[in-house]
Amino acid sequence: MSKQLVTKFNSIREWKDYCHDTHKSYLKNEYFTRWIEEKKIDVFDCSKLEKKEIGMITMAIENALKLCSRSFKIRLNKGLDLDFAISGGCINGAKILNMAKKMRNGSCSASVFLANKRAKSGKKILEFGDALTYVSDGVTIFTFDPNIKYPKRFFKEVIAHEVFHLLGLNMHHYDTKVNGYVKLPKCIMEYNAPAEHLCPKCKDGLLSFWEGMKNAKSN
Ligand SMILES: [Zn+2]
Ligand SMILES: [Zn+2]
Repeated sequence: MSKQLVTKFNSIREWKDYCHDTHKSYLKNEYFTRWIEEKKIDVFDCSKLEKKEIGMITMAIENALKLCSRSFKIRLNKGLDLDFAISGGCINGAKILNMAKKMRNGSCSASVFLANKRAKSGKKILEFGDALTYVSDGVTIFTFDPNIKYPKRFFKEVIAHEVFHLLGLNMHHYDTKVNGYVKLPKCIMEYNAPAEHLCPKCKDGLLSFWEGMKNAKSN
């Protein structure tokens, strides 16, 4: 959890315009724009989670996606052997990313990996329960400790939090301060995702970003 600078906005309009225009840097990213356009998500279950838990995960992904579009399709795939990417008991995120890119073979979808080892990003080793998301490449790796029974809220809230990142919401709740929103409720984009929903500020941010993407494509 790193302390980040807070960006301030003087009004809700200013905030929405800012998010609307951040799509420009994403438009340059061919992969992001393509999977968003094709709206397919592949889930690879390489965990030891129960069927019921996998069901809760795909449901959480589906619900989060619905906020932006109703036409996303989730495909649940058989698990893959991730041994090649494991060293020192951890999964090397960069190797998974590489594999995901190769596997796609010209087709374009986002890939969600459910793994049962801690993930490593560069030298940093993430805690179990943390996810590693490469937004511009449409890849997320969730890590589950096989010795822990996760509460239901984990599957709902933590998963949806990460899906919102994947959809282009690159900020956390406390990264921005916007004049005009009074008394925001607890928000799923706080670090530990203490709520089920996006607060009005983060929701406006994500939807404005998507509007920007849509407008850019139709122009
Ligand atoms: Zn929020
Ligand atoms: Zn986050």
